[in-house]
Formats: sequence, C-alpha cells, structure tokens
Amino acid sequence: MFQLERGLIRCMLRGKGEDVSSVRIEGLSKRFGAVDVLAPTDLLIEDGEFVVIVGPSGCGKSTLLRLIAGLEEPSAGRIAIGGRDVTDAAPADRGLAMVFQSYALYPHLSVAENIAFPLRVARRPKAEIAERVAAVARSLDLLPLLDRRPRALSGGQRQRVSIARAIVRRPRVLLLDEPLSNLDAELRVRMRHEFARLHGELGATMIYVTHDQLEAMTLANRIVVMSEGRVEQVGGPIALYDAPATLAVARAIGSPG
Ligand code: ADP
Ligand code: MG
Repeated sequence: MFQLERGLIRCMLRGKGEDVSSVRIEGLSKRFGAVDVLAPTDLLIEDGEFVVIVGPSGCGKSTLLRLIAGLEEPSAGRIAIGGRDVTDAAPADRGLAMVFQSYALYPHLSVAENIAFPLRVARRPKAEIAERVAAVARSLDLLPLLDRRPRALSGGQRQRVSIARAIVRRPRVLLLDEPLSNLDAELRVRMRHEFARLHGELGATMIYVTHDQLEAMTLANRIVVMSEGRVEQVGGPIALYDAPATLAVARAIGSPG
C-alpha cells in the first residue's frame, strides 16, 4: 500500500506517466572468450522500483550490474534508462551510481573529500558541493567523521561513506553490488533499514545484488533470480517464495520447495 501511494505521489510530482529512471534491457548478453557469462536477457525495471538480484556465486549478477553501469561492454543488446538509449554512453553520462562490496574509497582523501569527489569531477560550484556533502553526511550519520581518512573508519562507516558518495549527485538509478556482505549481522540489519529509508528519500530506482535471502525478501518490490548466466524467474517476493518455478529459484529464495 505504501509503495502504491508513493508511486502515485511520484507520478503527480513529475507529471503523468513521466519516466525518468526506468531501466530497460533488451537482448543484453556478455561473452568472455568462449564463455557466455550472460545469455541474451530482457528485463524491464520500472521507474522507482527496488529490484533485488539473487543467485549463486558466479551466476553473472555483478556482470549484469557492470553492464548497466557501463563498466563492461555488452557483446550484444541495448540498455535504456528513462527511455533514453545509453548503450554507448560513458558511465558518468548514464545518470546512475554504483556502490561496491569493497567500498572502493580513495585512501588519501578525507571522508568529506571522498563524498565530494563526484561533484568536483562534475565541476559543481563550491557552495553547492559543501551543501550537498553536508546533507548526505547528515542523512547517513557521517557528520562527526568528515575529517577522517578511510583507514580510520570501521567497515560499516566505510560502507556508509561509499553510499554517501554514490548518492551525492542524486542518481536516477542506484546500483548496489552486495553492499553489506562484508559487515557483521547486526550492522546488516541496521543498514537494511537504511536502504529502505534511502529508497523512499531518493525516489531512485534501486538494483541491489545480494546473497542474503532476508535482504531480498524485505527490500525487494521484485526479485530477479539468476542461475548460470540466465534469468530464471522474476516476481514479487511472496509470489516467488510460494511458487518457485525451478529448484534453483527455491534455493535462491530459501523457500521449502
Ligand atoms: P556473480 O557476481 O554472480 O558472482 P560474476 O558476474 O562476477 O558473478 O561472474 C560471472 C562469471 O563470469 C564467472 O564465471 C566469472 O568468473 C566470469 N567473469 C567475470 N568477469 C570476467 C572477466 N573480466 N573475464 C573473464 N571472466 C569473467
Ligand atoms: Mg558478484
């Protein structure tokens, strides 16, 4: 219900049917040498949707995200974001941002400088940079840490900095590749709530890769189950749990049968 209402409000704010952040994938595939890492894949992720991709290690989840981000070149197929074909666009021109499992912070820069980095590259005015950095730092509880270097932070703090850096330019699409898998269980629960809140706050489309069934079941509007370089099944969490089409889906979702 909440999802529906939010969708309605977003529609009203943007004007009817305006689509700024859908992700449409058509015939997208990737081959490394002789290996089909991603078989031709079609997928439509709707504006503002929270989609979680699950599947065993090596099934192609990261490859799919990296293709959407423009960090890999597809062997075939097209990608459109907000109705605009971005297949040949540079990563920075796709209106998206990515959070990595390994955080990927710049070790020689302070927390504030790490967060500000994408805005500096985009040559935003100083005042705007200061304002945006303060806003996302406040939102992610990083204000007391702005002068520290990444090595002086805990794993959870580092991941919050990498999330802050990813959202500082207000991306239309946020890609997250196992963002919590290096954190302990308690922190993962806290951050799960953070992602749900951020999704509401940003209104961005989120595509989130995880191994964690609980993360998938609680965060997803829809779950994409992958197996051996293919999409096995796509559906709402309850639908997939109740009626997994294959054994691979049941395993990925953790449903009894
Ligand atoms: P997942 O994220 O689901 O664990 P990946 O997308 O990382 O899976 O990898 C899928 C498959 O593609 C794996 O077999 C992996 O070894 C292979 N692969 C990934 N990147 C490359 C690459 N740059 N060159 C060759 N093979 C790769
Ligand atoms: Mg991966």
